[in-house]
Amino acid sequence: MAVRTIVTWPDPVLREPTRPIESANLSEDEDVRALYRDLVDTMYAYSGVGIAAIQIGDLRQMFVIEAAAVGGSESDDPLAFINPEISWQSDEKERADEGCLSFPGVFVPIERSTRARVRALNLAGESFELEGEGLLARAFQHELDHLTGRLVVDFVGPLKQKMIRRKLKRDAA
Ligand SMILES: [Zn+2]
Repeated sequence: MAVRTIVTWPDPVLREPTRPIESANLSEDEDVRALYRDLVDTMYAYSGVGIAAIQIGDLRQMFVIEAAAVGGSESDDPLAFINPEISWQSDEKERADEGCLSFPGVFVPIERSTRARVRALNLAGESFELEGEGLLARAFQHELDHLTGRLVVDFVGPLKQKMIRRKLKRDAA
């Protein structure tokens, strides 16, 4: 268990291709469990709602979302999504400000489907499907984007990108 360093933009790691987790016995895969625990510890340490493995420099296809956001209680363990894919999303969309742990202090207005469904494996290796709306649907689409190297900065024009780059550089100094 460890709080890991979050990879922040414009680190090129965030654009690397990710790969599915291929485990013969996922429920007993200690390596995958360790990744899950690191993701949870890091997400809590930075007060995030969700985090993808690539954000701690691990290219395996996995993200976690805190339990309260997926309808559980705050004391429940965050939910793991392994090899996730969007199985459905609504045509209806809404625009809202969106943050990302890889862009500390930056919020970007992004249009997303108001409802989305994700299919994934859990830590026991079982396939499940979950539908979310509003914030959760947004979180699904955001975390899925990380798996294909798509970032919040890709939704804004070059001028705003430059401003974000300057802000992150200034804040990191
Ligand atoms: Zn993010």
